[in-house]
Amino acid sequence: MRIGVLGLQGAVREHIKHIEQAGHEGIIIKTVNQLNEIDGLVLPGGESTTMRRLMDLYHFTETLRNSDLPMYGTCAGLILLAKEVVGQESHLNKLNVVVERNSFGRQVDSFEQKLDVEGIEEAVNAVFIRAPHIQSAREGVEVLSTVEDRIVAVRQNQYLGISFHPELTDDYKIMKYFIEEIVEQYQVKQPH
Ligand code: GLN
Repeated sequence: MRIGVLGLQGAVREHIKHIEQAGHEGIIIKTVNQLNEIDGLVLPGGESTTMRRLMDLYHFTETLRNSDLPMYGTCAGLILLAKEVVGQESHLNKLNVVVERNSFGRQVDSFEQKLDVEGIEEAVNAVFIRAPHIQSAREGVEVLSTVEDRIVAVRQNQYLGISFHPELTDDYKIMKYFIEEIVEQYQVKQPH
């Protein structure tokens, strides 16, 4: 599979490395035309408001809103995918969830832990950095993982959103899940 990582801001190279470790081809995406060359897109962690500004500037916002491309967002990327963001306008409107930014409290701005994720056999290494959490998962959304009753991983059809940053560890299990269980399965279902 050819998997793109939106390369406007944030943890881009780390995701490329995980795509390659999972045995697939990773491409840094800087223009909307490149979207035609890929089977799935990763929206990295970083700063969602900065990413949104750059996405508007380079015409990604409209293009991705109208696209069915499978997408996987981590942290800021999850915020970009959500249909509702507490206290501000939403971005790509793909995942039927409400997210709250920076919601894991000031004193625990960052932490790392082992986490069980539905669909993945072994626990994954999860790094949370000023992480959002999913306040509510609405119709059509499957909850894949929670931390202290807070939803931190969800899937809806070909979209995957998680609060934390697997790309900052060497654990590429979630990337493998995205590519092999979501992107590949989605292609099988598409009429040719
Ligand atoms: N706090 C950031 C935001 O709201 C997300 C943090 C991250 O991606 N590590 O966009």
